[in-house]
Amino acid sequence: MRPEILFPLFAEVTSLKGVGARVAPLITRLAGPLVRDVLFLAPTGVVRREASTADQARDGETVILDLTIDRHLPPHKIGAPWKVRAFDAGGFVHLIWFKGHGEHLKRLAPPGARRIVSGKVERFNNEAQIPHPDYVLSPERADEIPGFEAIYPATQGLTSRQVRKLVQTALPSLPDLPEWQDLAWRAKQGWPAWREAMVALHDPRTEADCAPETPVRRRLAYDELLAHQLALARRRRARQAVPAPRLTPGDASARLEAALPFTLTGAQIMALAEIRGDLASGEQMGRLLQGDVGSGKTAVAALAMADAVASGFQAALMAPTEILARQHASRLSPLFEAIGVRAVLLTGRDSAAVRRHALDAIASGEAAVAFGTHALFQDAVRFHRLALAVVDEQHRFGVKERARLQAKGDGVHLLTMSATPIPRTLELTQYGDLEVSRLREKPPGRKPVTTAVLPLARTDEVVARLKAALADGAQAYWICPLVAESEASDLAAAEARAGELRQALGVEVGLVHGQMPGPEREPVMAEFAAGRLPLLVATTVVEVGVDVPNATIMVIEHADRFGLAQLHQLRGRVGRGARASACILLYGGLGETARERLETLRRTEDGFEIAEEDFRLRGGGDPLGLKQSGFPAYRFADPFRHRDLLLAAADDARLALARGRDEPRREALHVLSELFDWRPERTGAD
Ligand code: ADP
Ligand code: MG
Repeated sequence: MRPEILFPLFAEVTSLKGVGARVAPLITRLAGPLVRDVLFLAPTGVVRREASTADQARDGETVILDLTIDRHLPPHKIGAPWKVRAFDAGGFVHLIWFKGHGEHLKRLAPPGARRIVSGKVERFNNEAQIPHPDYVLSPERADEIPGFEAIYPATQGLTSRQVRKLVQTALPSLPDLPEWQDLAWRAKQGWPAWREAMVALHDPRTEADCAPETPVRRRLAYDELLAHQLALARRRRARQAVPAPRLTPGDASARLEAALPFTLTGAQIMALAEIRGDLASGEQMGRLLQGDVGSGKTAVAALAMADAVASGFQAALMAPTEILARQHASRLSPLFEAIGVRAVLLTGRDSAAVRRHALDAIASGEAAVAFGTHALFQDAVRFHRLALAVVDEQHRFGVKERARLQAKGDGVHLLTMSATPIPRTLELTQYGDLEVSRLREKPPGRKPVTTAVLPLARTDEVVARLKAALADGAQAYWICPLVAESEASDLAAAEARAGELRQALGVEVGLVHGQMPGPEREPVMAEFAAGRLPLLVATTVVEVGVDVPNATIMVIEHADRFGLAQLHQLRGRVGRGARASACILLYGGLGETARERLETLRRTEDGFEIAEEDFRLRGGGDPLGLKQSGFPAYRFADPFRHRDLLLAAADDARLALARGRDEPRREALHVLSELFDWRPERTGAD
């Protein structure tokens, strides 16, 4: 329940003076529907106004002048400005209005009157002028001009000045809230109390006061991060409170491991041990297994599934595409069948008979293991005793979709897998309610992929070398640039490129594109996988987990248009077989900076390092375009600049929850949580 002390902040913006039917929707779009949201708008800069004189005022300065109006100079032709000449002891100043309304201006500044004028000065031929002054006031109203004026984000129909006024109107609603931060921690940081920080936030004196590193901003960022981490930690605890079946390794697990054609790497053994700890705990698992493409996540998942089977339960593995689901089934089913465990595949395109059969086997428990796509969580699917849901390429599924699969049993453990390495800090903001295991070590015998970074101008050379390699029996991917304008032109570009390459190379060229429906795409992929197609031209549809070990060359056109992490994913498609592989990154446009960015990929194949570098290069803001992908929309916090605070907030949240009723800040933390009001749907990703 929301504490009463927060009520003024949770009043609708319309309760503020000056917010009527016109302004309300504008401010709601800009900030949000509540008084709190207006107060949470942080200034982006500050205007400082200083008293000056006509001769002293410098170009670009925002000044306050005490002037006498001399005369009006109406425009001498259409499009020319309305000018008002004024003076002080230092000389003349021209006040200028384009599209000014003469009558109005004459009332505002009648000749002979004294006016206090403020605005930004421009110097022209040694004469000062002020285009569109911010203030023109009679002397008795001079104190209405603020010495410092915070600049706010504005929007169509709502100026920074109007936003500022609303903020000023809202400021008296700021309550004194109990301190939710640990006092020793706050003292060590040298941060003000919350209310004090909020007041200071809206009263910057210098540009530096608007930087993310100030104590005021850091305090507010920490509060926001703490509130978010608390919400995530609570969700984690709620999950752990759900009783779940205890799954322990047994005969099936040992036999499956023995049936694997390799021995597990140290990283796999460690991740598996972490997963097993969760599965045996009696609490519901929620774990993310992160590992680069090819790091061997599938084997880890398969062994966890075997534990479920060994304990008398069922396990399901869900993949985002038909291709991937089939790939998993075709690799793992034989292993499970070899140890006497029946496995079925369920996709959206099974024939009615096949589907009926699979559904029956799942419902009766005859099939202990199920592979599939979205088809797995449809209503018609009933499990006998589902205990473990594995979700591959988890970011391709929504929170709800994963939940629907989990709801197919009681206390179903969840293991999600991702080949998108993200920096630790982002991991905390996106998956703070999940435990994380990482596979940093690759299975042995992998040949490193040789990466070259070349300008697009050298495409012909690349084609010539490609021709030789294909003649030698190699297979290659050619990734086409993403054209932002439209998917249609995207497709056209890929088709044109495929045609050119068919000509130049004299080989058969397959084309797959994001616009193609699965049934058209799959036969092409299958031909390529079977080695009957030497070259595959594709947009990023090959990104997700497809494994064609014989493909050894990856050419990426306009690599500068991709994120580093995405390029890393694409590169991961090659280097999977015994032969040496190459990745050629062709860059256009930006030249040097693009090249530098791409150099990171040449230097390392460690996905986590690349992700960190990508994060660093893009710097704060919205570094990975994550806002669209459900990244929390922080108002004060910047996961890049405030990463130290993020780590601290995560610890703080966990600790506070672990202390439970013994936490002295309990009440205050409740106020904080309600103040920020994080809801699962607002955090999106998880
Ligand atoms: P990803 O993490 O991308 O899902 P996969 O699980 O598909 O990776 O594994 C990639 C390849 O590595 C597969 O062909 C798999 O058989 C092989 N592999 C996995 N673990 C090992 C290991 N410990 N030793 C050797 N090869 C392995
Ligand atoms: Mg995989």
